[in-house]
Amino acid sequence: MAGHILPNAMLGILGGGQLGRMFTMSARAMGYRVTVLDPDRESPAGSLADVHLCAAYDDALALQVLAETCVAVTTEFENVPADTMRYLERHVRVSPSAESVAIAQDRIREKRYINQAGLQTAPFLVVEREADLDQNLSGHVPGILKIARLGYDGKGQIRVKTAEEAKSAFAQMGQQPCVLERMLDLQTEISVIVTRTGPGEAVCFPVAENQHESGILDVSIVPARVPDTIAESARGMALKLAEALDYGGVLAVEFFVLQNGELLINEIAPRPHNSGHYTLDATLVSQFDQQVRAMCGLPPGDTRLLSPVVMVNLLGDIWRDDEPAWDRLLSQPNVHLHLYGKKSARIGRKMGHFNVLAEDVDGALQQALKLKEGLQGRAG
Ligand code: ATP
Ligand code: MG
Repeated sequence: MAGHILPNAMLGILGGGQLGRMFTMSARAMGYRVTVLDPDRESPAGSLADVHLCAAYDDALALQVLAETCVAVTTEFENVPADTMRYLERHVRVSPSAESVAIAQDRIREKRYINQAGLQTAPFLVVEREADLDQNLSGHVPGILKIARLGYDGKGQIRVKTAEEAKSAFAQMGQQPCVLERMLDLQTEISVIVTRTGPGEAVCFPVAENQHESGILDVSIVPARVPDTIAESARGMALKLAEALDYGGVLAVEFFVLQNGELLINEIAPRPHNSGHYTLDATLVSQFDQQVRAMCGLPPGDTRLLSPVVMVNLLGDIWRDDEPAWDRLLSQPNVHLHLYGKKSARIGRKMGHFNVLAEDVDGALQQALKLKEGLQGRAG
């Protein structure tokens, strides 16, 4: 859609978690106003927004207010009800599109779409009923049964070695549609965040190398320690997919790098991504600035890396009886702490992250891991 949306305009976002909060901070820093829709009275973004609509994502009145008071609407999560996106699309400028979000929220559609765009995923089998597991599974086990919808941070995933295990895992998933994905021998994982604002108008952030713990992102290392050829093809694949989707907005693409150097797409997210939090401190503009720019019809900002950086996630696990010892981080001149203002810490809950900037990526990683251990109370 033509025309720039300029500061003072009201922007809307579906979801008030940490991604919505960091979006709100970017938008407000640029002089925009923000309305957040989130049913949680204490959502991380709600308290920073100009307006917090505290209602369900399918609340007709709240959606009407959003459509009437905002000039553009975006989302911080892919599990928005499809009807919500479609309703908003009829009344207000929405990015990414309802169609892109619908694809990303369903692993089956997502993987098929990626393959149709000529890009590789892990071998997968669609499991919609138990009988789908009666065939020869040798290409798919040992594998991971992943629920097609509403999984995140490794939730809705069960590792299986045999057809029998796959069947009982499927029962455990309540026989909801799933994919059975072959367990791959990973060399490493990387991700690329694309901002696309129109045909041929797309930029990538530098490639991040991601380390997970128990299915949850733990550390992102930038630049990724992979050969230039791999980084280059990851960027090419991410751009190709964004083009195939005719995508508008910020798109995260997660990759598997196999032992033989082969590159597969794991999954996509139609929004800024945890592995892009390093952009808050280490690139010229952040992924949240890009989200604002894209929804306002502005060209993508410059994504150049200003410094090697390592991001470490802070999970609720490190809150014991007390707040973690923040002075350990804050006393470091080259560390940026970001906390999301969540009221209660739970195991596995993303509470914040910190970015360590240093001359070289190995130094940043060493320091980051030491600080992380210190916070967990295992080292000085
Ligand atoms: P998130 O939304 O946080 O990215 P998710 O719940 O959607 O997570 P996936 O990205 O599918 O989960 O998987 C989480 C992690 O589990 C991956 O980043 C990877 O480390 C591991 N994993 C997933 N699928 C495979 C596979 N087929 N082979 C090997 N490892 C895998
Ligand atoms: Mg993932």
